[in-house]
Amino acid sequence: MTIINQKAYKILENSIKKNSLSHFYIFHGPNNVGKKNLAISFAKLLFCKENTKDCLVSETCINCKKIDDGKHYDLVIMDSKSPVDGVEDNKSDQIKLAHVQEISRIANLGPFMSEYKIFILDGAEKLNNEASNAFLKLLEEPPKSSIFLFLVNDLSSIYPTILSRAQKINILEISEEEMEKYISSNFDIDDSVIQKILQFSLGKIEIAEKLSSDTTLIDGYYESYDRFLEFCTSDISERMNFAQKFSTRFRTDRNAIFNELNLWIDFCKISLNNFYEDKNSQLFDTDLFDMFDTEEINNFVLELIKTISNLRSNANPRLVFDVMGLNLPVFQKEKLNGI
Ligand SMILES: [Zn+2]
Repeated sequence: MTIINQKAYKILENSIKKNSLSHFYIFHGPNNVGKKNLAISFAKLLFCKENTKDCLVSETCINCKKIDDGKHYDLVIMDSKSPVDGVEDNKSDQIKLAHVQEISRIANLGPFMSEYKIFILDGAEKLNNEASNAFLKLLEEPPKSSIFLFLVNDLSSIYPTILSRAQKINILEISEEEMEKYISSNFDIDDSVIQKILQFSLGKIEIAEKLSSDTTLIDGYYESYDRFLEFCTSDISERMNFAQKFSTRFRTDRNAIFNELNLWIDFCKISLNNFYEDKNSQLFDTDLFDMFDTEEINNFVLELIKTISNLRSNANPRLVFDVMGLNLPVFQKEKLNGI
């Protein structure tokens, strides 16, 4: 079983019970907070013969079995990477007109084995202008029995005209207590490792699940943290070398760089959380607070967010990383040796 946001689930459950289903939902909330889990539970709730998200997938419930296997005809999950005719080389990472045309085509066929056809569009903020307009048209005369479900981090990146037609459901992060209970009852992991997972996942259940299923992934977090420290303690000329390396890597693997920068933001957040909650976390041998104060760490977060947003709007990567290197606070290594 998977843990899902109970409050949001209740809203959906009631809308089915009260027969007031919307044909368009937007689930919004931070990355990895469980939007997709919730969307799949919603599909089960609608398709399951037993009408429960916790159906035991007995021989009699073909619907839940097919959903679990990722093969249900009436559940279509798409993102910018989904292969559709007309999008061969999708380097821009946008959701394009061809994706929406494919959705429209399948929607018009109607459901095969259920009352509804559900379309989950993961990362719907990546809809480009053309695709957004096509989707609006689709919403104006939605094919009967279709339910569209957008999963987005940030509502502000969706067309207001699209937003106004959706039922919006906010998915919040879950508490550390809930998460701890979930991990310890579902995975066989040492308590010290669970404590690390709790800190690294920052309330995001999808991250916690990923790290709990494969604890060797935690090493990758520590490696990224080491690179971050190296960056923090580098002087301006060393940072220009970093910028060179980062921009080269960015050209071949954008996502690796986005992942790295997002991890660095998370490390700052972890440090700030521990500081404000007065926790002695011992997650890292060298804490950011050994080098920087709260204002500087907050500046790190802002500057990293700015870097990501500039990269997403296709600014010259070398320039973006040069600016990042210049704007981020510099720490004198000599000070660290004195600790
Ligand atoms: Zn079922």
